[in-house]
Amino acid sequence: DGITLERVREYVWEIPPEGDMRAPARVFASEALLEEIKEDKTLEQIKNTTHLPGITNYAICMPDGHQGYGFPVGGVGAIDAEDGCISPGSVGYDINCGVRMMRTNLTYDDLQGREEELVDSLFTNIPSGLGGGGIVESGVDTVEEILERGVDWALENGHAVEGDLLHCEDEGVRAGADADKISQKAKDRGKNQIGSLGSGNHFLEVQRVTDVFDEEVGAAFGLEKDQIVVLIHCGSRGLGHQTCNDYLRKIEQQHQGLLDQLPDKELAAAPAGSQLAEDYYGAMNAAINFAWVNRQLIMHRTRQVFERVFDRPWEEMEMELLYDVAHNIAKKETHTVGGEDRELYVHRKGATRAFPAGHPDVPNAYRDVGQPVIIPGSMGAGSYVLRGGENSMDLTFGSTAHGAGRLMSRTQAKNEYWGGDVQDALEEQDRIYVKAQSGATIAEEAPGVYKDVDEVVRISDALGIGDKVARTFPICNIKG
Ligand code: 5GP
Ligand code: MN
Ligand code: MN
Repeated sequence: DGITLERVREYVWEIPPEGDMRAPARVFASEALLEEIKEDKTLEQIKNTTHLPGITNYAICMPDGHQGYGFPVGGVGAIDAEDGCISPGSVGYDINCGVRMMRTNLTYDDLQGREEELVDSLFTNIPSGLGGGGIVESGVDTVEEILERGVDWALENGHAVEGDLLHCEDEGVRAGADADKISQKAKDRGKNQIGSLGSGNHFLEVQRVTDVFDEEVGAAFGLEKDQIVVLIHCGSRGLGHQTCNDYLRKIEQQHQGLLDQLPDKELAAAPAGSQLAEDYYGAMNAAINFAWVNRQLIMHRTRQVFERVFDRPWEEMEMELLYDVAHNIAKKETHTVGGEDRELYVHRKGATRAFPAGHPDVPNAYRDVGQPVIIPGSMGAGSYVLRGGENSMDLTFGSTAHGAGRLMSRTQAKNEYWGGDVQDALEEQDRIYVKAQSGATIAEEAPGVYKDVDEVVRISDALGIGDKVARTFPICNIKG
């Protein structure tokens, strides 16, 4: 309504600059997905984003885009790190929410008949839900160590092996993390959530590979048809949420001038170079480390669960981390803009880094093919592994989508579905075993509340920003 959208070429749409917009906004979507994007405030929000000082080239909405806090989920904003700003709402409340996939050498045949035992054992051994505790419960000093040292802490304390670090974005340790910039309240919230899934949209899923679309890249990623893999989705829990909240309030107070120029208070931003910009960046990097440790502890515990269920050491089952990607993050990165190298805060909120083959930040094991990109679908649909596409640096600051994207709100979902019915249908029709702390969560996360992940991934692949490598399908799923 009232928003002009011009077609640039197939799957690329643009909101041209007008009024105080500092750049255009671009939507990467098929017509079908665009119709869904138009149903909530996504277009208005991506347009608002272009008012942020330092926004570079264009603000981006991915094919899975939907409305979020100020900045759409499925949004990318690359903002000049010298003359621009950094915006906590454009990173998201769940700092370093992300996904990791672990391979195994088990096949679907090895697992059939043991689904219930496995799902029960995972559910018992992996803390989930609100107030479910953590795998490690400790004092604030441990939290502080985790904040600054990331997965190195996990390695030193027996929750990781060397290879786990090599297969994580930033090798599991974010530089520039400053635990002093995280509030006492946030640290207190983190204390008993170290190694916990949390509630709602977060999950652990045992899956089987149903398709390998690219044999060569599939081999480089160690993926084969019928293989069992584990997908873990969670973030920085209460610690990250509190940190986002703390800095939003501080920035609103101290940078009122900038706030007044923005069409939405939720986009509150700290000018690049200001003390609060530096403080938020240090705190966010620390919360990123916390989230990586969180996913690491859950993955390592999963290995122990598999050891008990399948009665052999996890090393024998080759349970290795394929990759871990963040999808709520802002990172200082160098990008070529108009032939010139520029330092940018690349805000990826509900968007995944998708660096192509040859990029120095892609781990050695994948350097020749591009970084793995993991895109969950839903507990009743496929999920995907992609590889960073050749066009991602030119089109999307090295990014692609992060999921199917929500189609309806949680409230709507609870009116539409009944958790118990959804759970029964998944088991009877698709042999998918779901366990959750609450039936409401199952209703809120029913497959029908999400868009068509196949369509989202088709667009990523067609644009060459993230190319299809493999597809998986759920077997066991636990959530909060
Ligand atoms: P978000 O981080 O935006 O909450 O979620 C990321 C994506 O995860 C969603 O867009 C959705 O496609 C996917 N998703 C949500 N629940 C599940 C689940 O239980 N299993 C799988 N495989 N994907 C899910
Ligand atoms: Mn999250
Ligand atoms: Mn997430």
